[in-house]
Amino acid sequence: MLGAGFTGLSVGLRARCMVYEAADAPGGICRSYHMRPGGSVRLTRTAADGDSYRFEIGGGHWIFGDDPALLRFLRDYGSVRRYGRRSAVFLWRARRYIEYPLQDHLEQLESDVARSVAAELASIARQAVESPRTQKEWNSARFGPTLCALFFHPFNERYTAGLYDRIAPQDAYKSPVGSARGYNATFVYPLDGLDVLARRLAQGCCIEYGRRAVAIDPSARTIAFADGTSLQYRTLISTLPLNRMLELTGLHVTTSADPHTASLVLNIGATAGPALPAYHWVYVPDSASGFHRVGIYSNVDRTFLPQRDGHGGRRVALYVERAYPGDAPPHPSELHAYVQAATRELREWGFIDSIEVIDPSWIDIAYTWSWPGSSWRAEATERLQAHGIQQAGRFGRWVYQGIADSIREGLTIGSALSTG
Ligand SMILES: Cc1cc2nc3c(=O)[nH]c(=O)nc-3n(C[C@H](O)[C@H](O)[C@H](O)COP(=O)(O)OP(=O)(O)OC[C@H]3O[C@@H](n4cnc5c(N)ncnc54)[C@H](O)[C@@H]3O)c2cc1C
Repeated sequence: MLGAGFTGLSVGLRARCMVYEAADAPGGICRSYHMRPGGSVRLTRTAADGDSYRFEIGGGHWIFGDDPALLRFLRDYGSVRRYGRRSAVFLWRARRYIEYPLQDHLEQLESDVARSVAAELASIARQAVESPRTQKEWNSARFGPTLCALFFHPFNERYTAGLYDRIAPQDAYKSPVGSARGYNATFVYPLDGLDVLARRLAQGCCIEYGRRAVAIDPSARTIAFADGTSLQYRTLISTLPLNRMLELTGLHVTTSADPHTASLVLNIGATAGPALPAYHWVYVPDSASGFHRVGIYSNVDRTFLPQRDGHGGRRVALYVERAYPGDAPPHPSELHAYVQAATRELREWGFIDSIEVIDPSWIDIAYTWSWPGSSWRAEATERLQAHGIQQAGRFGRWVYQGIADSIREGLTIGSALSTG
């Protein structure tokens, strides 16, 4: 098994197979880490005196859904708390919040805008459904020109780092219509943090850390690691991104690879500003510095804050996400300029006051997309499968899925392996 993120941990738990992990801790992109106010070092655990913020590498990772079987599984590894989502679209230029899903809260728009949107949605409902080729066409066909100009087009342009009018439609459930409250209406989070949950799952697995696979010979079925060692496999389950696995194995497919986008996550601990909203996260289509989402960890749970509160309860832990084209990390000077611009903007909005700690993470493959009509994903998966490599998880299978689905998938694969 390659990778000890939540998919790999779940496979490892059920199959009792060896798990090889490049990092020195389990949890993958969901892993939490801790930082002291004024500090610059990432701690793997809460500071002994409790004086540390908790952040996550990929920004807030909330476990969505109500599946009782999954909740029972999680509770075997510690308590979880349940939350009802509080999120909104934040139109900064109009100084207006509209609750998510925007299309269900038209009464929160200016009345003439709301009337135009309602007329457009009614007209869309009467039209025959066509098959849109791109995500932009899909949103246009579903929400009409006014809502698209106000939110869907500028937001998605940012969220997809400019791929919006070239990629195939996907993840329809993220933009619900009618009475649906969306995929993330409720969520749970471990009382002790995701890092503790990951460590508890890891205790039931056989994991070797610091084992980065650097080459795979698919004919000889051997893996070479960065530490100079190698081993042979009969069946390999991999949660590494699909494109990276093709590179590692040297296998080729005839179609050109589907695109991905990267995410730059800025974790910030600060004293709260005067206009910090009470939402868990807000979607922002018009920030000047280019980010598209701000999540407020400490509005979900105060345990993200240092326990010793020296600021009269006025601290905030938050994350800011900005998308970039994949494989194109910003130059350090560009990163520095962005961090300055983003924090200036958060201050201007009144979200934060003085910053105690700020820490960026670059996630090179954060969102995976498909070109319209592409068969790359299926071809790549089959090509690897033919050499005994089964791709698993969100990045391995090049699909969108959250932690809950990743755990379910890992447990299913693990059970099949242990009985097969
Ligand atoms: C920005 C962002 C926000 C998200 N927010 C949420 C959310 O709020 N809620 C939710 O449910 N889901 C969320 N997700 C999805 C969630 O992150 C995934 O479903 C989940 O992390 C998938 O876990 P995984 O184990 O498949 O992959 P990963 O977590 O990526 O694990 C892969 C593992 O492989 C290891 N690895 C990589 N290369 C090598 C190598 N060469 N050799 C050995 N090991 C290697 C990595 O270190 C890592 O530990 C979010 C995703 C992103 C990108």
